[in-house]
Amino acid sequence: VVSRLPNVGTTIFTVMSALAQQHGAVNLGQGFPDFEGDPALVDAVTSAMKAGHNQYPPMTGVPALREVLSAKTLALHGHRYDPVTEITITAGATQALLTAILALVHPGDEVIVLEPCYDSYVPAIELAGARAVRVPLNGTTFRPDFDRVRAALSPRTRAMIINTPHNPTGTVWTAEERQMLADLLRPTDVLLISDEVYEHMVYDDRQHISASGHPELAARSVVVSSFGKTFHVTGWKVGQVMAPAALMTEFRKVHQFNVFTVNTPMQIGLASYLQQPEPYLNLPTFYQRKRDLFRAGLAGSRFELLPCEGTYFQCVSYDAISDMPDEAFCRWLTEHVGVAAIPMSAFQSTPAERATIRFCFAKQDATLQAALERLVKL
Ligand code: PMP
Ligand code: GLN
Repeated sequence: VVSRLPNVGTTIFTVMSALAQQHGAVNLGQGFPDFEGDPALVDAVTSAMKAGHNQYPPMTGVPALREVLSAKTLALHGHRYDPVTEITITAGATQALLTAILALVHPGDEVIVLEPCYDSYVPAIELAGARAVRVPLNGTTFRPDFDRVRAALSPRTRAMIINTPHNPTGTVWTAEERQMLADLLRPTDVLLISDEVYEHMVYDDRQHISASGHPELAARSVVVSSFGKTFHVTGWKVGQVMAPAALMTEFRKVHQFNVFTVNTPMQIGLASYLQQPEPYLNLPTFYQRKRDLFRAGLAGSRFELLPCEGTYFQCVSYDAISDMPDEAFCRWLTEHVGVAAIPMSAFQSTPAERATIRFCFAKQDATLQAALERLVKL
């Protein structure tokens, strides 16, 4: 078989979760909570099923869910997306990203990604027949370097993908950075794909800076998010896309032949649950406490903590412990120390300035404590 993706194997998340299971390691690798979401949300979905909402919803998603998302985005970011023409419910953010790229990017185009970046972006670009132009984030702060982005722009640049709060580094864009991006893109017709799946995980009184909150950027943006992160239900695979109608029309042409639509009862359950904002408004406090617990536990160890402004990931350097490359170190950590992590190299094509790995702290306190007991001994 001539592969469409010759350089792609099985994702690191699948590989590390399997290795963790095999060795009975505490799994701080793949990003998912080891605790349940709110029973009220499960009840809302169960009620929808029992009430007979079990057939296809509209191709674009359940209207009540699109309406609640429209109202939420207006309240949080001051931009109103028309729920009829500008919002679509997807099978998670991964499908949303691939569909957006297939719909909007043409063979031979270039798409700028900021590395390190989530591992689905580059394969999605390649499946569209386009070329990923990898622009490194600043090697020590992991903040966007706009001079480098400017230098990467070409007449072939069709789109740019950004991600804030950022997986894996935990950086959160500032309003100034968003403005710099808007200034940079103003003379171009480059589209922006903004991956905001960790939108409700920002710490130390930071605000999530959404592309939707900047009118000029919103006009050229596809904004992607996922309910799995926000409501502790990563296995549900329900996400959302918001974009101006002209872009959304193209998105839906592909979406209808990709998944057509997404399961009905979960959409109805999410729509009724989202009537109250508390679940997502409380999320920063909830996760900031876990972040602080995990950071405090590692503070006396030989790991060096990188900043964590958002997401549920904590990156650390380990050069005081080992000179193994990061993937080998993660395997060793899983097999011999009993804690699984994700190597930074999974997110980038060029070696990191410092060997770095990512831990997920979306775990019960007892799970974090069990991991810390092992990690502080190193
Ligand atoms: N983007 C980023 C940055 C992510 O971390 C993830 C989840 N790991 C996704 C997209 C995919 O989200 P979903 O599970 O909803 O497909
Ligand atoms: N987004 C999750 C992470 O970064 C994993 C998702 C997946 O397994 N594909 O860990």
